[in-house]
Amino acid sequence: MSILPEPISLKQFENEARNFLDSNAAKKTDRAFVWGEGDDDVSLFSENTPEQEQLEVRSAKEFARKVFDAGFGWITGPSEFGGRELPKDYQTCWEQLRSEYEIPSDNCRGIGLGMVAPTILAHGTPLVKKLYLSKLYGGDIIACQLFSEPIAGSDLAGIQTKASKDGDQWIINGQKVWTSGAQYSDIGEIICRTNNDVPKHKGLTVFVVDMKAKGVEIRPLKQMTGGATFNEIFFNDVVIADSHRLGEIDGGWTVALTTLMNERAAIGSGGGGISSGSMSSRMLEMIKHFGADDEPLVRQLFVEIYINSRIASFTSQRALAKLTAGKLPGPEMSIGKLSLTENLRRIGDLCSLVLGPKLVANSGEWGTYAWSQIILGTPGLRVAGGTDEIMRNIISERVLGLPK
Ligand SMILES: Cc1cc2nc3c(=O)[nH]c(=O)nc-3n(C[C@H](O)[C@H](O)[C@H](O)COP(=O)(O)OP(=O)(O)OC[C@H]3O[C@@H](n4cnc5c(N)ncnc54)[C@H](O)[C@@H]3O)c2cc1C
Repeated sequence: MSILPEPISLKQFENEARNFLDSNAAKKTDRAFVWGEGDDDVSLFSENTPEQEQLEVRSAKEFARKVFDAGFGWITGPSEFGGRELPKDYQTCWEQLRSEYEIPSDNCRGIGLGMVAPTILAHGTPLVKKLYLSKLYGGDIIACQLFSEPIAGSDLAGIQTKASKDGDQWIINGQKVWTSGAQYSDIGEIICRTNNDVPKHKGLTVFVVDMKAKGVEIRPLKQMTGGATFNEIFFNDVVIADSHRLGEIDGGWTVALTTLMNERAAIGSGGGGISSGSMSSRMLEMIKHFGADDEPLVRQLFVEIYINSRIASFTSQRALAKLTAGKLPGPEMSIGKLSLTENLRRIGDLCSLVLGPKLVANSGEWGTYAWSQIILGTPGLRVAGGTDEIMRNIISERVLGLPK
C-alpha cells in the first residue's frame, strides 16, 4: 500500500529545493556572455570520447541518486514508485530553480525518462513498474528506445524484428538501428513483430529488454559531427519473460504511440537549447563581433529565429501540459518539432551570412568554425523523432484538413 506524502505548500517546496541545491551544486554566475571567453562549443550532438562519455554518465547517475533521495527525482510520480504525487507546478518550480545551478549534464537519461518511463508507467505490468521505474528516476539505470530498423523508420509499422512466444517467454531475433545511447543503457523498449497474418500495425508487440542479456550485440555508428551517439543492435535468440511485455500481444502500436508522443514533445521543447536565452545572446554577440548588426538581412533572420523559437517552445509546453494531465496531445508536438528544425536551418543561414568561409575552414579563431556543428547536426534533428516531411503530413491532415 502506498503512503501519501505530507502536504507541502509550493513555498515550502521551493525552500526545500533551494536548500538542497545550495548544498549540492554551485550557483551559476550572473555574468553576461562575453564573446571570446570560455567554451565556444554549440554542438547539437555529443562529440565525447568513450572515456569522457563514461565520466558524464557516472556523474549524471550519482547526481540523479542524490536528487531522488532528497525527493526531487520524480515530483509528479506515484508514491509507490518513489514519486511525490505533487502537481505539475512543483515540477516547473524545481526545473526553474535547477537551471540556476551548475549541475552535471543528464542528457544520457533523456530518452529513458522522457519516453521509456512514461510508456512503462502507462502500459507496464506491476512487476515491470516495480523493477524499473524508481531505478530509472533514481539514476541507477538508463533506458534506450529500440524502434527503427534498416527498412523501417517513418513507416514504423513495417518493422521486421521478430518475437516468437515460447511458453511464458519470448525469443527475439532481428536488427535495430540508430539507437541513441544504447552503449550505456541497461534496458531498452523494443517493438517487435508478433503476427504476420493481420494488417502490419496490428501485429506488433512491445517489450522491455535487458540490454546486457545474452544475444544482444551493440555496434557504434560514427556520425559526421564526429561523435558516435547511435548504434546498430543485433538480437540473436534473446530471451524476454512475458512479464516484460508492455500492453497487449499485437497491441504494440498503441504502446509505441505513447512513446512517440513523448519523444516529439521532448525534442520540440528542448532541442539543443536553441530557444534558450544563452544561445540567443551567443548569436547576437557573434553578429556584433563581426560587424553585421546593421545588415538588414541578418537583423531580420535573427528576429525570425528569436520569435520562432519562443513560439515553438510555447507550443511544445502546451503539448507537454496535455501529456502531464493524462490527455493525448493533438498535432502540437509536430508543430513544435518542425518549428525547431526550421529554426536550426535559419541559424545555419545566419551563421553562413555572418561568418562566410570561417564557418567551413578551421582557422582556430574562437567562435567561428565551432558553429559548423550546427550545420552538421541539423540533418540529424530533422530526421530524429519523425522527419520534417512526416511532421508536414501530420499538420496538413490534422490542422489544415487536407486529403491524405
Ligand atoms: C539523431 C537521431 C536519433 C535517433 N534515435 C533513435 C533512437 O534512439 N531509437 C530509434 O529507434 N530510432 C532512432 N532514430 C531513427 C529515427 O527515428 C528514424 O531515422 C526516422 O524515423 C526516419 O526513418 P528512416 O531513417 O528509416 O528514414 P525513412 O523513413 O526511410 O525516410 C527517408 C526519407 O523519405 C521521407 N519519407 C518517408 N515517408 C514519407 C511519407 N509518408 N511522406 C513524405 N516523405 C516521406 C522522409 O521524410 C525522409 O526524407 C534516430 C535518428 C536520428 C537522426
